[in-house]
Amino acid sequence: MSTSEAKTTAAGEVVYEGSSLDLQDLTIAYGEVEVVRNVSLSVPPGTTTCVIGPSGSGKSTLLRGINRLHEPKSGDVRLAGRSVLKDKPDDLRLRIGMVFQHFNLFPDHTALENVALAPWRVKGQSRSAARRLAEDRLREVGLGERMDHRPRDLSGGQQQRVAIARALAMHPEVMLFDEATSALDPELVKGVLRLMAELCERGMTMVVVTHEMGFARKVADQVVFMDEGEVVEVGPPEQIFDDPHSDRLRTFLSEVL
Ligand code: ADP
Ligand code: MG
Repeated sequence: MSTSEAKTTAAGEVVYEGSSLDLQDLTIAYGEVEVVRNVSLSVPPGTTTCVIGPSGSGKSTLLRGINRLHEPKSGDVRLAGRSVLKDKPDDLRLRIGMVFQHFNLFPDHTALENVALAPWRVKGQSRSAARRLAEDRLREVGLGERMDHRPRDLSGGQQQRVAIARALAMHPEVMLFDEATSALDPELVKGVLRLMAELCERGMTMVVVTHEMGFARKVADQVVFMDEGEVVEVGPPEQIFDDPHSDRLRTFLSEVL
């Protein structure tokens, strides 16, 4: 199993060793209604998969099923080659980090405390080790100068960086992003996307649900188009955006591009 501890190059750059993520015939339902149906997908280690598709097509549900915020009905989720559906959900969430549209930071804690809390409370690190780790992660996301600010004193983009730093502090093997920039003012979107592209370059395995087609085209190794709970097309960005095979994808692209 990959340890996925953050390592650094001689130049001090953080590098990641993401794990492979494989979905096999994954079906996820709310009650009787299957909103994700028979999704199979391979995300090789250190690659980025962008998921696009209309509102209500099951993108968020897919991510929630992967880290078992919502238990899949059938199929399998494999991390580093091993099924994780029988693991304790809390253990799984240490290995798969998730970043949401709304940052879900603790409002009464500083940026530093928000990032240090889980390594200290959940992973049992000493307070000082958790603090040092949080400082490193916050510097990495460009917030070295703002560690003692509370969320309300940070911009939306900075809050989202704190949320990303908080996920990274758990040394995840995979990062899931659910429309991480959709709630941001337009001028703040670029900085967060750049940070996500950097994580990708440094070897993190990522699944990114996004409406940012420019990001998907530039950063993704593969793009998944979902519609009505199904994967309709998967391919490299050039194929998905320049040579869509299905009418459903062509229609979707004509509406968003
Ligand atoms: P997307 O993220 O692509 O917009 P979602 O995964 O949020 O799509 O939703 C997929 C479908 O599941 C939609 O029809 C939505 O109404 C339904 N859905 C989402 N969350 C719930 C829920 N908690 N209970 C019941 N149905 C839900
Ligand atoms: Mg969604």
